[in-house]
Amino acid sequence: MNTRRGSRLSGLALAALLCAGATVARAQWESIEVLGETVAPGEKWLLSWVSSETFAGGPVPIPVRVARGVLPGPTLCLTAGIHGDELNGIEVVRRILLEIDPNQLHGMVIGVPIVNLHGFRQASRYLPDRRDLNRHFPGRSNGSAASRIAHSFFQQVIVHCEALVDLHTGSFHRSNVPQVRADLTDSGAFELAKAFGSGVVVHAVGEPGTLRRAAGDVGIPAISYEAGEPMRFQPVEVEEGVRGVRELLARKGMLSSQPRRSQRQEIYYRARWVRVDDGGILLSDVDLGDAVKVGDVLGAVTDPISNERTIVKSPYDGRVLGKAVNQLVIPGFAAFHVGIRGDDFRVLVEEPEEAHAPEPENGSAEPVAEDQLDVDERPE
Ligand SMILES: [Zn+2]
Repeated sequence: MNTRRGSRLSGLALAALLCAGATVARAQWESIEVLGETVAPGEKWLLSWVSSETFAGGPVPIPVRVARGVLPGPTLCLTAGIHGDELNGIEVVRRILLEIDPNQLHGMVIGVPIVNLHGFRQASRYLPDRRDLNRHFPGRSNGSAASRIAHSFFQQVIVHCEALVDLHTGSFHRSNVPQVRADLTDSGAFELAKAFGSGVVVHAVGEPGTLRRAAGDVGIPAISYEAGEPMRFQPVEVEEGVRGVRELLARKGMLSSQPRRSQRQEIYYRARWVRVDDGGILLSDVDLGDAVKVGDVLGAVTDPISNERTIVKSPYDGRVLGKAVNQLVIPGFAAFHVGIRGDDFRVLVEEPEEAHAPEPENGSAEPVAEDQLDVDERPE
């Protein structure tokens, strides 16, 4: 069921075009075909992506919101809920698509709040066949169910994108400090990460099969925003995500009237998980975002029967970017994600009037070569 929501805005769009004066560029900025519908400048639509895979005997339409600006510009895609239990991003996409006025927009925004609607309905990270959709992009038309769904989404939606923000949270009782992850060796992704303006940026190439990596592989600059934990709507993490997308829209020139704020970004080219060596009850001694030094106590694991207690210490100088919530753990469990403040750690400080000319506080603002990097990633 496709619902047209742009009829009233069409008149305003036409007026805006006439008032602004016709230029060649604007004359070429026309309607576009998306998911079988024709979306004109100045219109907002609620469309549906229908995957060929049905699972329950009938097609499941996935809502896709589209806002086409009255003026030319790039197409930004926002995707959330690829893991059906990760809720914060869903609210970010909802708010952004609700507030966007196509009469103030340069370019187009496509928002898919809940890509994995199957998992969302069951509060599950996975698809009904227990596969992780974010390991199957760009997918194959004759592959597994997950691969076919990924292929359909990629071919019907992602091909329209010229930049992508994929929104996630920590997985399985872990929480992340709000952060952007990007392949910082890719200049397009690096620029997107800077434009988003999250206080923490982590270099991560992305595991094969993730939407972010698959998009990057076909030349669509992509970043992921990771904030908070699954199964919850967290106001602070949601607001930080909304602020980041707004900032990105402004810095990409897609919104003309957006105020630009000064910002400070910590860029971690290395981040490592600290694993526990003993099983038991994990209790944490640090908070998300805490700065830590080598030897600082991160937490302790206590055997509930023998009372044996093992202290978990940080092997690194850095910042706690992610951590497991207090829980029962087994040996090898990844408990604390520490961004490492080594020689490659950088801080970028940007003032509003210098929004297009960032100066590094230390080090270089240029992407570094991939072979200089040493990365330990967790699934997105
Ligand atoms: Zn995720």
